[in-house]
Amino acid sequence: MANKKHVYLFGNGTAEGNAKMKNLLGGKGANLAEMNLIGVAVPPGFTITTEVCTLYNEKGRDAVVATIKDEVTNAITEIENMMGTKFGDKENPLLVSVRSGARASMPGMMDTVLNLGLNNDAVEGIAKKSGNERFAWDSYRRFVQMYGDVVLGMKPESKEDPDPFEDIIEKMKEEKGVELDNDLSTDDLKELVTRFKIAAKNQTGHDFPVDPWEQLWGSVTSVFDSWMNDRAILYRKMEKIPDEWGTAVNVQAMVFGNMGENSATGVAFTRDAGTGENLFNGEYLIDAQGEDVVAGIRTPQQITKEGSIRWSKLAQVSEEERIVSYPSLEEAMPLMYKQLFETRRKLENHYRDMQDIEFTVENGRLWLLQTRNGKRTGAAMVKIAMDMLKEKMINREEAIMRVNPEKLDELLHPVFDTEAIDDASVMSKGLPASPGAATGQIVFHADDAEEWAVQGKKVILVRIETSPEDLAGMNSAEGILTARGGMTSHAAVVARGMGKCCVSGAGSIKINYHDKTLIMDGKTYSEGDFISLNGSTGDVYDGRIATMEAELSGDFGKLMKLSDKKAKLLVRTNADTPSDSKVGRDFGAVGIGLCRTEHMFFGDDKITAMREMILAGDEAGRREALAKLLPIQRADFEGIFEAMHDLPVTVRLLDPPLHEFVPHDEKGQKEMAKVMGITLKEVKEKVEDLSEVNPMLGHRGCRLGNTYPEITEMQSRAIIEAALNLKKRKIKTYPEIMIPLTGTYIEMKLQEEIVRATIAKVFEERGAKIDFLVGTMIEIPRAALIADQIAKSAEFFSFGTNDLTQMVFGYSRDDAGKFLPIYIEKGIIKEDPFQVLDQEGVGQLVDIAVKKGRKTRKKIKLGICGEHGGDPSSIEFFHRVGLQYVSCSPYRVPIARLAAAQSTIVNKRSWKRKNS
Ligand code: ADP
Ligand code: MG
Ligand code: MG
Repeated sequence: MANKKHVYLFGNGTAEGNAKMKNLLGGKGANLAEMNLIGVAVPPGFTITTEVCTLYNEKGRDAVVATIKDEVTNAITEIENMMGTKFGDKENPLLVSVRSGARASMPGMMDTVLNLGLNNDAVEGIAKKSGNERFAWDSYRRFVQMYGDVVLGMKPESKEDPDPFEDIIEKMKEEKGVELDNDLSTDDLKELVTRFKIAAKNQTGHDFPVDPWEQLWGSVTSVFDSWMNDRAILYRKMEKIPDEWGTAVNVQAMVFGNMGENSATGVAFTRDAGTGENLFNGEYLIDAQGEDVVAGIRTPQQITKEGSIRWSKLAQVSEEERIVSYPSLEEAMPLMYKQLFETRRKLENHYRDMQDIEFTVENGRLWLLQTRNGKRTGAAMVKIAMDMLKEKMINREEAIMRVNPEKLDELLHPVFDTEAIDDASVMSKGLPASPGAATGQIVFHADDAEEWAVQGKKVILVRIETSPEDLAGMNSAEGILTARGGMTSHAAVVARGMGKCCVSGAGSIKINYHDKTLIMDGKTYSEGDFISLNGSTGDVYDGRIATMEAELSGDFGKLMKLSDKKAKLLVRTNADTPSDSKVGRDFGAVGIGLCRTEHMFFGDDKITAMREMILAGDEAGRREALAKLLPIQRADFEGIFEAMHDLPVTVRLLDPPLHEFVPHDEKGQKEMAKVMGITLKEVKEKVEDLSEVNPMLGHRGCRLGNTYPEITEMQSRAIIEAALNLKKRKIKTYPEIMIPLTGTYIEMKLQEEIVRATIAKVFEERGAKIDFLVGTMIEIPRAALIADQIAKSAEFFSFGTNDLTQMVFGYSRDDAGKFLPIYIEKGIIKEDPFQVLDQEGVGQLVDIAVKKGRKTRKKIKLGICGEHGGDPSSIEFFHRVGLQYVSCSPYRVPIARLAAAQSTIVNKRSWKRKNS
């Protein structure tokens, strides 16, 4: 431990770390180092490693200080030398920021302190040295405020609680009769510092710390503490970031955007994070510092002239007013803009990805304070990957790997119906902060959004502005509307990350939290009223608007084609109706992997015939009822086969326990008695008779077909007759008949014989033939273990991983809701095994069955049709064990196609690693 390095320096074009060291230095620290190495101007500083955070969480403050004190002291000396200033000096003090920075970026979740090192002496030194007293006191009051918030715990827990510092500022502005923070005089700022310190003393009982070293250690340890604050914990949960990672701490010399008219601070994206367009964009403020741009205190200005003109139209600002009050950086500081534009090019070329950057201009000098791969919407993710491929910045495999399959989900969601939108009235316009279409009921508080969503309501969260504590509520909402804040505001950035529709900075709307009202264009809306948002245009509409299906076109379509070329696994869809089949097919499914027949029995006329069959006293009665069901089923299959023409369709024979179909209410039972000409009592007895203690392990699956072979006969006949009918119409079908819930070889063999005998009879009757397969689901652990025997009878296996998971874990899927969430919370299991395949246990059985099945039947067809067929990490596993296809719900087909391509690439790469 003695020689272990805990502190990594950077500055003046050199660095001890680099971009590859994110685990140790956090994303921010690693990239600050890297920017030094590639010749981008960054204020010097050092990074305290994430390992120290772990040490802090285990051993506490004293142990940390003892371990790293010497290294930190030396590092401060290095910065002093580079800056020509001295930490704690009266005349020429070094001021620093203390910044959090985890491996994965967690925007706004943890804390930062700026201007550290100031006290009553240093502030005079800074004033004299800069010749700008106002700037010195502005920095000082910001420092006291941030230190109070972060280190002394004075930040209010929620937006509704009073913020002691903001209250003092508001009062001060009232006393002085000014509107903006910037309108306060130097004397006012001095007075603010005094009042802030009194507030701090009231809070802690101690004087505000004047010793810079005390300030530094207080801030460093508070940043470590912020790793464990509630909103950071919640964010990590949502983004699946492990708690063990910890955060690094960056201590960095200050540069000042608040030195006057020749200084500024801003944030920018090298491409559009909402649409992916190759357009530099961002926001800045003159004479401002740090978070001012994103905090929504002043209206931020655009970086580029083009962006500025676009913005002014949306914000309804005239060109004259724009030029005077909101000029772009390009217009206001052309030289700085040129340098920034050049930096943009340099960073994109180096990182080969869209960057999200922070910069500060101090007296006509440009400094970069952060760069990271920018968060973006699903649409932007696809466009940027495909554009960069076109620009030859990345290759095909990289383009495929750049897109997170889950993010495609956003592109598959409905958009506003083009006709409905023509009739809708636009009530307000804000910034198109995060694309998508959202319709829902208004709520004004994040907590309400969560509660209403739990009740199954669709809500739009309407806020003056959002802050990190609104995270969970934002996640529960369909869309977010804010009155304040630009394209880089908290709401905008977080919404894009979540893929949530968001309209921000709709300045013309009036929100009253107290009365829970929203006024737009003269109309007053209350909580619960419906509005609609278009996050791509910024339009806010009155009422509900109908939506329609999205389609695979443009870059998305190209990405899919590229994926199909790489993928080994084919993707089918699970579909029980012609319309589902069509959706799946349009999204690129190459067949149906699971068509459940029981869903076909739920229509009005159908259910009666089905019930007659179930309630019949003997085989003759059953056959009579089945004869009524035959044409109904045949017609259903014709519809599906037609929708899936030329592609294979796996049809599963009747699976669920029969009691699911019988009427459990008296009204339904009376009706059945009438239809069947029996007494109500007889119906009741039969229903009673069918009830099972544990139906999921009861009379279902092939156990039905083996006890009532006439059901299997009828279904086989319906399938094949449907296919032959289509053949007459020159439509090709490839039916695959699937026996559910097989556990023993004989069970399967008997069913196969019935199916084949029935089909032979149909062929003879019709004098026509088609190709078909008979196979089984593998969903009972025993079946996986004796797959070599079952493969003697089954021409294909389809892994039913829902039942398989249920039976391997012994968790009832319908009851797991009571304990699974707690298990996950406590870390007893990592993920819900019904969503993400348990590779260790369930996967082992899949692997065994694949190997044994192939041993008996070399060319056996293998696929999976459980919920896991649409889950990327599970798909990767199915690729590795060598299945031919996965089958998933229609809307997940494109996700599965991309995940299948990524599986090929990932496995090729790891094979290369192993063999080189
Ligand atoms: P976050 O992770 O929440 O973005 P940061 O650590 O990046 O927090 O800092 C918050 C703000 O302060 C950013 O705008 C950043 O650019 C600015 N900032 C941080 N350190 C300095 C510094 N040394 N000089 C000037 N501005 C800084
Ligand atoms: Mg930052
Ligand atoms: Mg099953």
